[in-house]
Amino acid sequence: MMSSSPARVFAALNAVRPPDQASPVVGRAVVIGGSVAGLLAARVLSDYAQSVVIIDRDDPQVTGERPGVPQGTQLHALLPGGLLQLEHLFPGFREQALARGAVGAPPAARRNYLDGRLKVVVPDDADSLAGTRPLLEGLIRQRVLRLPNVKTVTARATGLVFDGAVTTGVRCDAGGAPGVESGDLVVDAMGRSSRLSEWLAQAGWDRPVMRRMTVNLNYATALFQRRETDPDATIVLALHTPKMSSDVAGAAFFAVEDGRWMAMMAGYGDNRPGRTADDFVRRLRDQFPPEFGEVAGNEMLGDVRTYRHADSRRRDFHRLKRFPAGLVSVGDAVASFNPVYGQGMTAAALHAACLSTYLRSGPDLGVPARRFFALQKVVVDVAWSMSTSADLALPHVDGPYPRGYRLSSWVSGQIVAATVTHVPTARRFNEVVSMREHPRSLATPGVLLGALRANRRAR
Ligand SMILES: Cc1cc2nc3c(=O)[nH]c(=O)nc-3n(C[C@H](O)[C@H](O)[C@H](O)COP(=O)(O)OP(=O)(O)OC[C@H]3O[C@@H](n4cnc5c(N)ncnc54)[C@H](O)[C@@H]3O)c2cc1C
Repeated sequence: MMSSSPARVFAALNAVRPPDQASPVVGRAVVIGGSVAGLLAARVLSDYAQSVVIIDRDDPQVTGERPGVPQGTQLHALLPGGLLQLEHLFPGFREQALARGAVGAPPAARRNYLDGRLKVVVPDDADSLAGTRPLLEGLIRQRVLRLPNVKTVTARATGLVFDGAVTTGVRCDAGGAPGVESGDLVVDAMGRSSRLSEWLAQAGWDRPVMRRMTVNLNYATALFQRRETDPDATIVLALHTPKMSSDVAGAAFFAVEDGRWMAMMAGYGDNRPGRTADDFVRRLRDQFPPEFGEVAGNEMLGDVRTYRHADSRRRDFHRLKRFPAGLVSVGDAVASFNPVYGQGMTAAALHAACLSTYLRSGPDLGVPARRFFALQKVVVDVAWSMSTSADLALPHVDGPYPRGYRLSSWVSGQIVAATVTHVPTARRFNEVVSMREHPRSLATPGVLLGALRANRRAR
C-alpha cells in the first residue's frame, strides 16, 4: 500500500473496518489523552492489544464540559465522513446518538449559503448528525469504556520512560502521587498543546519540526431555545468570502439536544463578532439570511462563549530521522487546523484507521513506527491542504504561499462558485471537504470544465 498514490492510500484508509476477530500484536498499550482522538485510538487498540489503558487528567466520569477540552463549549460539526467512520467503529452509533437527543441531518435538512446565495442540495449526499461536542464525546467514551480490555487512569502524564531506543511507559502524577504506566506501545493523544516534543528533546531525541499558519480566528457560540415553529433545517451554514467585506467570516446554527439551537459566529484578525449577547443577536440578524434572525429571536440560554484560535499547526513526525520505537501520536497533537472546516474529529477517526492498518500488518514494535507515520502523513496532508489553501485567500493571512498558488486558487474559486448551482460539482466537493475523497478527485479537467460551464450558465 505504501507505494500507492496518496489518493489510493486515502481511499484504503476510508475503507478500513475493524477485524472480525481480535488479533493481539501488542501486550499493553497506553494512550495519553482520553478525548476524541485518544478514545478512537483506544477503540482500535482494543482489537490489537491484550489490554489498553487511557490516561487523562480529567475524570472520565465527568460528563459535559471539562477543563481538558476548552473548545468543547464551541459548535462542533461531525462531517458525514466522520459519522461513517464512527458507525464502523461503533455499530449503532447514529441511532444511539439520536436516542440521546442528537438531531439527524440528512442532506435535505442541511442548508448552505455562500455570500448569501443558497447552495443546491445534493440529494444523495451522506447523512450527518448535530449535537453538542460533550454529547458526541460522551457517547464515544461510553462505547470505548464498555470494552472489556480497556481501562482508564485519572492522572496527568509528565514524561516517558525509555529502555534504550524503545518507549516502555508513561510517567504520571495522580493527585501528587507519582507512578508509571508501562506499555509496549504508547500513543500521544494530548491535543494541540501536547508536550511530547519536549519530552523527546529532554530524553535526547529530535523534536519534530512544527509548521504553523497564523489564522487568528475568533469564535463565539451561544445557545438558544428551539421552538416548533423554527426553521425546519437542522444544520445551516453561511460563509462570507473576503469579497463580501463583512467583519463576520461565517455563521452557523445547529439543532442540538434538549430542544436547543447552537449558533456560532466567527471573524478573523481584529474582528471579534458576537462578544456580547446584543452584538451576537444583532449580527446574526443583520448580516445573514432571515432564518438566522429567527433563531436569534429566541431566548438565549446562558452567555456567549468565545474562543480564540491562533494558528493551524502540524508536527512532522514522518520526517524525523531519530525516533524511539513503541511510540505514535494522533489527533490534534499531530495536526490541528482552522476549526471552521470542522475536520478535527473526522481526521482523528482517520488517524485511528492508520493505526488499525499499521497494527494489522503485524509490525515489529522494536523499531520506530515509520509505516504508521507515513500513512498518517497522507491524512494530515489532505486536511492541511484543504484548510490552508482556503485560509491563504484571507486578506490577513500572509503565507507561506506554495508554488502555483495563483493558478490553484483560481481553479478552486471556480469550483467553489459552481457548488452553489451545480449538483455534480457540489457532490464531489462535499465528498472532499468531508474527507471521504482525496482532494485530487477535484483536480481533473472534467470537474473544472463542469464548474466553468455551470458558472457561465449562472451568470
Ligand atoms: C473552537 C474549535 C472548534 C472546533 N470545531 C470542530 C468541529 O466543528 N468539528 C470537528 O470535528 N472538530 C472541531 N474542532 C477540533 C476538535 O476539537 C479536535 O480535533 C478533537 O477534539 C480531537 O482532538 P484530540 O482528541 O486530539 O485533542 P483534545 O480534544 O484537545 O484532547 C486532549 C486530551 O488530552 C488530555 N491531556 C492533555 N495533556 C495531558 C496530560 N499531560 N496528561 C493527561 N491528559 C492530558 C486532555 O485532558 C484532553 O482530554 C474544533 C476545535 C476548536 C478549537
